[in-house]
Amino acid sequence: MSNADRAHRAARRAVFLDRDGTIIEDTGFVDDPAKVRLAPGAADALARLRRAGFMLVVASNQSGVARGLMTEETVHAVNARIAELLGDKAGLDAFYYCPFLDGDEAVVGEYRKDSDWRKPRPGMLRAAAREHGIDLRRSWMIGDAPRDVEAGRAAGCRTVLLAGATAGTSPPERCSAADYLAASLTEAAKIVEQFMDGQPVILEEPAAQARASAIAAGAEAPTTPATSVGWPALPPAGEVPALLREIRDQLDRAHRRERQPDFSFVKLLGTLLQLLAIVAGLWGTVSLVSGSDAAAASRLLLACLLQLMCVTIHVTTRE
Ligand SMILES: [Mg+2]
Repeated sequence: MSNADRAHRAARRAVFLDRDGTIIEDTGFVDDPAKVRLAPGAADALARLRRAGFMLVVASNQSGVARGLMTEETVHAVNARIAELLGDKAGLDAFYYCPFLDGDEAVVGEYRKDSDWRKPRPGMLRAAAREHGIDLRRSWMIGDAPRDVEAGRAAGCRTVLLAGATAGTSPPERCSAADYLAASLTEAAKIVEQFMDGQPVILEEPAAQARASAIAAGAEAPTTPATSVGWPALPPAGEVPALLREIRDQLDRAHRRERQPDFSFVKLLGTLLQLLAIVAGLWGTVSLVSGSDAAAASRLLLACLLQLMCVTIHVTTRE
């Protein structure tokens, strides 16, 4: 085993978690520890991840500080209440939060800042990786908003987007480039546990740079999935419904083609000749019954010729 492999295995892996709407119910700006309500199943889900060997690190935007709605002390108090409610088995290893916000909505001057820590940028995840020796490529990001997914992807993590009923954004907005969608934190923990030993994500550096640059420029981040080695190439979550619709449309078109009669003028001619052959045969039979042998013979001969032509057309046009 090379030194690089040893270092890789020695690095810890973590699950980064959004806070509001992921670990706790999203009630807007949580400015009071008394308002904290754990999301259903949160404690069990986090305990499960801890047992699987992951560090648990919260990465949360807290722009309420810059907006003047709360202080950093309030954020600490709320985080302490969350830790208390989760208990030891689901203990969180670290809390990272970004109190900064850029623009006019930031009314507290010292927090008006364009920060790399504010998701969808990956600053909090990268800082945690440096401070705790976390291997980001073996780590995961779970959150309820596309910006969580973008931050996770930009850091090189695999991502799970919670698409449960508690989320505040509409379905199209939610369909970002997450690796997996989950209905709840419990389901997200099961996904991480199931796929944790897959090959780590290897970001192509140019793509990572392009994604980070797009996010930094405030543009919508590219939705192309990160290149991975040995990991199934999943379509971005947002493309799945479109893919299913395309498959359905193609099946519909194939079904309609099957049901359409295979029309051609040659086959129409064959059908007309068949009808004429029947008429000629009936006419010859009537002539035969009425005692007109010569006329009957010629009409039956005509019927035979028409039938022969009909059979010839049928044989030559058969596929
Ligand atoms: Mg959230």
